[in-house]
Amino acid sequence: MKEKKVAGYSFFQFENLSSFPTLEHFITTRHPLLDLRKEEGRERLKRVVGKRDIFTVNQVHGAQWVVVEENSSPSSFSEVRADALLTQRKGVYLGVKVADCLPVIFFDPEKEALALLHAGWRGIIQGVHLQVAQAMRNLFSSSYHQIIVGIGPGIGKCCFSVGGEVAKFFEEKERGEQNIGRKEGEFLINLKGFLFDELVDQGFDPHKIEVAPHCTFCEKDLFYSHRREGEKTGRFMLLASLKEGR
Ligand SMILES: [Zn+2]
Repeated sequence: MKEKKVAGYSFFQFENLSSFPTLEHFITTRHPLLDLRKEEGRERLKRVVGKRDIFTVNQVHGAQWVVVEENSSPSSFSEVRADALLTQRKGVYLGVKVADCLPVIFFDPEKEALALLHAGWRGIIQGVHLQVAQAMRNLFSSSYHQIIVGIGPGIGKCCFSVGGEVAKFFEEKERGEQNIGRKEGEFLINLKGFLFDELVDQGFDPHKIEVAPHCTFCEKDLFYSHRREGEKTGRFMLLASLKEGR
């Protein structure tokens, strides 16, 4: 990850996704004027990133995805219940709002296709990442080993302690056990690691997956955290756009 200033705001970018001329992406950070849970925050962000439409959905911690088509309008999407957006359309932003859940980006430079995911533990258990990968293959003929992935920032294995019922969902998965830490009767889930392992199992290239080191719970000056601050906390956003290049 690297930091980048845009119009005075501090944003992050994945290193592995920064070198493609056909992709633009930003991860916003904690700033009172850029709380993306609020309408004014979203409007301000839109101006900061160049006045292009930002497509978001009504995120519900599931595994449903939607496609932004050439004639789609952002207003019709904001109520759609889904946790991932896919597109080959150029010149518009896709966005996911987060505060502990993992923002994830899939970019296929060959097919010029893009997907953004909101991946919390519930969505990950339901395989939102696997559903979206499959959708990219079906819709855009993407090959998994070509897809460049960025995972996080989100709650880290240092802080994501869960009870036995939640840990059980992970224990039942093939890659669960190696991503569960145990400490004094607590279970610490490594969401980023679990996601990474499951993608590699599917045929994703581990060298093309970048995992953000940041923990949203630990780094309170930089990110919002639902677990630390409760429902009233703000949201930061991963947004990305395909653009004309080459
Ligand atoms: Zn932490």
